[in-house]
Amino acid sequence: MYVSKNLDVNSDGHLTIGGMDTVKLAEEYGTPLYVVDEELVREHCRSFRSSIDNYYGGKGLACYASKAFSCKAMYRIMKEEGMGIDVVSGGELYTALKADFPMEKVCFHGNNKTNDELKLALESKVGRIIVDNISELERLDRLAGEMGITADIMFRIKPGIDAHTHDFVKTGQIDSKFGFALETGEAMEAVKAAVKCENVKLTGLHCHIGSQIFDIDPFVCAAEVMLKLISSIKKELGLEIKELNLGGGFGIKYTEKDNPTPYDSYMKTVSEKVKQVCAEENISLPFIYIEPGRSVIAPAGITLYTVGAVKNIPDIRTYVSVDGGMCDNPRYALYKSEYEIVAANRAAEPRTEIITVAGKCCESGDLIGEGMAIQPVGPGDIMAVLATGAYNYSMSSNYNRIPKPAVVMVRNGESRVVVKRETLDDIIRNDLD
Ligand SMILES: *Cc1c(COP(=O)(O)O)cnc(C)c1O
Repeated sequence: MYVSKNLDVNSDGHLTIGGMDTVKLAEEYGTPLYVVDEELVREHCRSFRSSIDNYYGGKGLACYASKAFSCKAMYRIMKEEGMGIDVVSGGELYTALKADFPMEKVCFHGNNKTNDELKLALESKVGRIIVDNISELERLDRLAGEMGITADIMFRIKPGIDAHTHDFVKTGQIDSKFGFALETGEAMEAVKAAVKCENVKLTGLHCHIGSQIFDIDPFVCAAEVMLKLISSIKKELGLEIKELNLGGGFGIKYTEKDNPTPYDSYMKTVSEKVKQVCAEENISLPFIYIEPGRSVIAPAGITLYTVGAVKNIPDIRTYVSVDGGMCDNPRYALYKSEYEIVAANRAAEPRTEIITVAGKCCESGDLIGEGMAIQPVGPGDIMAVLATGAYNYSMSSNYNRIPKPAVVMVRNGESRVVVKRETLDDIIRNDLD
């Protein structure tokens, strides 16, 4: 009925998530509120893991790209589900450390890691550092040398695949700030440079071709390009690259228009291609990493707001303002991302109204969406924005000094706060008198 399968309507006509009444959750915890269905998150992890077991003999690791939603509870869940994780900053790494996440299953990404971040990664013994550029390679080699350790690294490669997605989230093509270009020979030069470094060991190659991708073809294509590079490295330098990290970017259903491919078929098709190309090129089957972010968490989350002012501008549009906005969900302002909405306390009624959902920030562009269908709503109603689990809390800000909402997880008929709501005192905690 709704975009995410964990949502339903109960006998009170209220929207439920993971079986829990969202109107009661809004009453208990206040709004705005992020709600995450923990069981669905775990289910996604299991399906990624089992697809590697089923189609690739378990010779791989699914790493949750934690920039999608990072907090200690999330890293603990990932640990329990046997996932690896990606981090892209010292902050994410520190959070994972504090959650006792096993560091050998961490991949550390980023196009401009600072020396402090690299040192923290080395000290914490993260499994793989994904090196993005030559200056990082040199700095890392020196830092590892100073610490008397060898860093296991992968190189981020731009495989030059156009994944037909939104321009802002396209990272595979040559015009990108991420990684080494293939066509120009930059990637091969980097491999040669790594061989000369005494304190780093190149274990693998990485690519990430974009985000919210529905097609399997670009992934298959990227895998092929990467394996051919691994093959030419073997031929030219006699160096065997044993790991291939194929990144994330698997699409999810935000609205009825979206039609994502089941994760299972992704791994099935990609595994077949990998086995085929490895046989043709006479290279051994690499250990494969995949890095789902959005697809692990987005469908499991919703945001609950309380409706405030409703402004009907005849023949133009109706603005329905909520008690959050771009401060907790900047994705419409950033990318014109589309969402489905529901009046949580009137979920059994048909969605007959077309509205623009506005936030409470002092920006005309502070919208959650335009042309959205919803039940008739007025002040005091609870509005749910669906599939907000990814890139919402993690992209939230204190713009206008608005405190960040709490994050509540639901599972087995129980709810618990995993991130506290910010208070006004939190807002001034770093201000000096
Ligand atoms: C963002 C990112 C991902 C995850 O992308 P999703 O679209 O959320 O699946 C994976 N790997 C890298 C390197 C990323 O930057």
